[in-house]
Amino acid sequence: MKNLLSLVLFVSFAFVSCAEKEVIEEPKMSDEHAMVIERINAYAPVTLKSDLSGLTERERALVAKLVEAGKIVDDIFWEQSTHDAISTRDSLMALNTDEAKDFLKYVKINYGPYDPLYDNDRFVGSGVAKRPQGGGFYPEDMTKEEFEAFIAANPDQAEAFKSQYTIIVRENGTLKAVPYHQKYEKTERLASLLEEAAELADNASLKKYLQLRATATRTDDYYESDLAWMELEGNNVDLVIGPIENYQDELFNYKTAHEAVVLVKDFEASAELELYKSNMQNFENSLPLENKFKQKNIGEGNVIQVVNVVYFGGDCNQGVKTIAAALPNDPKVAEAKGRKLSMYKNHMEAKFDKIVAEIGKTLLTPERNKYVDKKAFTSFVTLHEVSHALGPKYVNGKKNMEIRNALKERYSAIEECKADALSMYNHKYLLESGIKDQEYIEKAKATYLAGLYRSIRFGSGAHYNANLIQLNYLKEQGVIFTTAEGKLDLNDDLFFEKMGELSNLILMTQVNGDYDKAGEILAKYAVLSDELKKEIEILKAIPRDIATEYIY
Ligand SMILES: [Zn+2]
Repeated sequence: MKNLLSLVLFVSFAFVSCAEKEVIEEPKMSDEHAMVIERINAYAPVTLKSDLSGLTERERALVAKLVEAGKIVDDIFWEQSTHDAISTRDSLMALNTDEAKDFLKYVKINYGPYDPLYDNDRFVGSGVAKRPQGGGFYPEDMTKEEFEAFIAANPDQAEAFKSQYTIIVRENGTLKAVPYHQKYEKTERLASLLEEAAELADNASLKKYLQLRATATRTDDYYESDLAWMELEGNNVDLVIGPIENYQDELFNYKTAHEAVVLVKDFEASAELELYKSNMQNFENSLPLENKFKQKNIGEGNVIQVVNVVYFGGDCNQGVKTIAAALPNDPKVAEAKGRKLSMYKNHMEAKFDKIVAEIGKTLLTPERNKYVDKKAFTSFVTLHEVSHALGPKYVNGKKNMEIRNALKERYSAIEECKADALSMYNHKYLLESGIKDQEYIEKAKATYLAGLYRSIRFGSGAHYNANLIQLNYLKEQGVIFTTAEGKLDLNDDLFFEKMGELSNLILMTQVNGDYDKAGEILAKYAVLSDELKKEIEILKAIPRDIATEYIY
């Protein structure tokens, strides 16, 4: 796998040395080629076509302008991913063999020669075996110690060095911090495009945001534009753009990577979201929990919007695709304005088609699988997000102790489990109040069962553990069972009763801020049993994620 780039050099050399036969016959290469094809196949290709018919002509022109800006941000991310991401990509592009084309495809999925799904191992070319932790943000040969020693010797440089908007370079034998807006030549073009987009925006809040974002791009000061983003109202088009997340800097988590998401509002799903939000207090009142622990005046929680992705570029587009994002990250903005959760409906639908529907067909009884339904899947995810706002936020009797702080590193898995369990439990209220009918409830249950198996194939993380807890608990309680034919089914009589008991177990762990109980639940239920391993094995041929292309 590390040999393909040397092959690049070899082949060009071969024109004068006639040595190409030796290269082509090298047996090792085909193994690596086969491995890359297998990895590509784990990403189901999908073309997402956004429906812009609800937009005005000027809004459609605005979208086109934003996509143009997004592509510039995508180019910048190629520079940030790793130092040799672009040279690897371009060498493969120049080769133009079938093998090189496959490697190129996988390089494009991962924005470089390293695979985040496989421990950041190098899969092509002859560079270092693991992705340098600092990506393209620091000199490849710089160590943590050198960085820290430099700051200790030059304390006046500490702020610039730790800034999330600077690149560290080596110049004349010493380290130097260069602001993004100076480092990336395309900054001015990007800012101009955002200004041109602002000209096309008829919504005043969007116009203001785009103007401020253009200024931020030129100065690397994003605060005002982040505030303006939280103040967007009545806009049908939305945009996330700039340096956002710091995961790519595995050395210090200081540096933020560029990404762009162009979004249009989904009108139908937004109406459904409003329906759920208007029932928040009803959901809270119906929680399987003693009344004294329930919130009396529940707020609406965070701002939530359901949108369709028109363009995805840069950091967010690397590897696994997200179905939702909560931004902005700046805690000062979050404190003043909260966060906005954007749910990507067309991503959810693509994951349903390529993954959840296939899991249903493979694992569930045919009778149960009949009810696995796309709309029920996106509704479940929407209701999951709404459900995060339900239930207590503080440990009982301790107004100053947030549940998050009491449960520490065990909090995320418990909280995700709560949101899933309540999302399902809320269906009891939706049925009893006549908002949804029995047919819909059947769809929701069957889709939930297939969906539980989606996240346990990723191998780690809060959602992984949360889904394991639900699967093992519901199997133990006889809600999920295996038929004589070896297919999965649900006990309809027990479903809501046991869902209520699971919800109560999780909610009481939160009410009590019980760190030990959370540990007990995780140790008992967040385990990959042999039975689950076998079921995951059956799903091997089903893609784990999607590789998206966007047209509009
Ligand atoms: Zn969640």
